[in-house]
Amino acid sequence: MRVILPNPRGFCAGVHMAIDVVDRVVSLFPDRQVYVYHEIVHNRHVVERFQAKGVRFVEQIADVPDGAVVVFSAHGIPPSVREEAQGRGLTSIDATCPLVTKVHSEASRSAAKGYQILLVGHADHQEIIGTRGEAPEDTIVVESADQVASLEVRDESKLTYLTQTTLSTDDAAAIVHALRERFPKLREPSSSTICYATTNRQHAVRQIAPEVDVTLVVGSRNSSNSVRLTEIAEAAGSPAHLIDDASEIDHNWFPRAGESSVLVTAGASAPEDLVAGVCRELLSTYGGQLERWDVIDEDVEFALPGALRRIIRERPDEVMSESIVIRSSEIDAELYGSVPLTVSARSEPPTSI
Ligand code: SF4
Repeated sequence: MRVILPNPRGFCAGVHMAIDVVDRVVSLFPDRQVYVYHEIVHNRHVVERFQAKGVRFVEQIADVPDGAVVVFSAHGIPPSVREEAQGRGLTSIDATCPLVTKVHSEASRSAAKGYQILLVGHADHQEIIGTRGEAPEDTIVVESADQVASLEVRDESKLTYLTQTTLSTDDAAAIVHALRERFPKLREPSSSTICYATTNRQHAVRQIAPEVDVTLVVGSRNSSNSVRLTEIAEAAGSPAHLIDDASEIDHNWFPRAGESSVLVTAGASAPEDLVAGVCRELLSTYGGQLERWDVIDEDVEFALPGALRRIIRERPDEVMSESIVIRSSEIDAELYGSVPLTVSARSEPPTSI
């Protein structure tokens, strides 16, 4: 079997930072209960691993008792949640991805200038709930191009749009196109708000999926970007399956068994050890080789949140790495074992909406 691993895949800089935040908070506050508001990232294994360390996940600040420490998830929160935690005197650490924070800032600045915001995304997703919360009276969530014709806006000359960071770039482009057609004076955001990690992972799948028999996407069902990768692989002509881990592989998916070529990618919240587990399962069952296809090299780093850095500085014994560098081109021999590996480069830049 040919098992093809794209670079990039899996953890993005925001997810890496958010997970690091919870790990550090647990070790910094051994005598206090640590809560996380919403799943820190949308991955079942990540959440279960933190639960095993005693972390509790809640959907309401009211469920965090006085004196506890609370971490806000990578998806961001509405300002009302931050204010509630401050009002309660909770120790709060914000692990919101800086790229989500950037969208929040653009939303609040646009609203302050009198713009109405057409927020393209999934209304029930935590990120959209958070961004909308910046200016709830000035925001309309747009979930599909079909919805555009019936939108009722305040003033067509004072309209702008923003997007969820993890949308399919193709779907978002179709919705934004419909918005531009209906509202010619629509103001563009300062830059694309679909993030680099989403864009790059989707681009890699679009490049490779047409050349394989099957695509496996490692990720959880509530992970927006993992679901989008699965849809994109299918749209590119490859049967695709979203799996949490190797235990969910169905061997009937590989019609040519050991002759099959399989693309194994992962959503931005899926840990690399789970990806490696899927590859090991395929190679130990069918034999064959691992191929790493380099589509885009990522070199993105996010510093820890300021509040956490201040706490760490007050504790001289704590070691603080200043930033986290992600290199998704690495194949960790400890995770993958000694399998035959080839590396090839495929590079065409993605297009933006
Ligand atoms: S997917 Fe993008 S926006 Fe979301 S956490 Fe990762 S880098 Fe940040």
